[in-house]
Amino acid sequence: MDEKKSADASCALSCSECSIRNCYRRDRKYPDFCLTSQYHDAVEKTRELYTSDSVDGRLARAAAEIEGEYYGRLTRLEETIRFAKKLNVMKLGIASCIGLLDEASLYAKIVRTAGIETKTVICKVGAIDKTEIGLPDDLKVCPGCNESCCNPALQAQVLNEWGSQLNVMVGLCVGHDAIFARHSEAPAVTFIVKDRVLGHNPAAALYTAKFYYKRVLDEKTFPEPRKHS
Ligand code: SF4
Repeated sequence: MDEKKSADASCALSCSECSIRNCYRRDRKYPDFCLTSQYHDAVEKTRELYTSDSVDGRLARAAAEIEGEYYGRLTRLEETIRFAKKLNVMKLGIASCIGLLDEASLYAKIVRTAGIETKTVICKVGAIDKTEIGLPDDLKVCPGCNESCCNPALQAQVLNEWGSQLNVMVGLCVGHDAIFARHSEAPAVTFIVKDRVLGHNPAAALYTAKFYYKRVLDEKTFPEPRKHS
């Protein structure tokens, strides 16, 4: 086996290929490639982290409590608000996509009904045209028009300056969510994941991948990216 094939083979064995999942109940035997076994020291560090009074510790315990108290009974909408209340959040920031601003407005109203202050920042805040960041005009949805790029770093900055204690992402694009999470000082959770085709339910592509959406299992569906410079 050459080096590349060997690397591919070792990459192939991780949790996504494990049918044992002994890390959940600890009532079986770990597989040879098990990450729990390989990362023994790191496991101990994270045990300390989650039992500490750090932000991560408080988030971890609050998340586990929400799961335990409401398992299978509350929607994600309700869970995010219960999670915020468990953390004593008084100021909740909302980073919204322009395409889901109606949903964000309703979400903000519901959060305020629960007694938590909100501030919403739309993705187009700052109004910087896409061509100003190097995008060719013909890649705009509407070529020739001003079309502002999403500005997740500014969304985060506005919420940081407001002093949000928890930020909620509502429909941010793939990639813009990553920038927002990098710049958000408060912990950032997702309420809606954008999927323009599947009604914001990206998992539907997996549920239908064996028949209607079988194209996702064809490598021709994912060619090398086009170059635009
Ligand atoms: S951590 Fe180990 S037991 Fe758990 S899913 Fe991954 S490989 Fe399987």
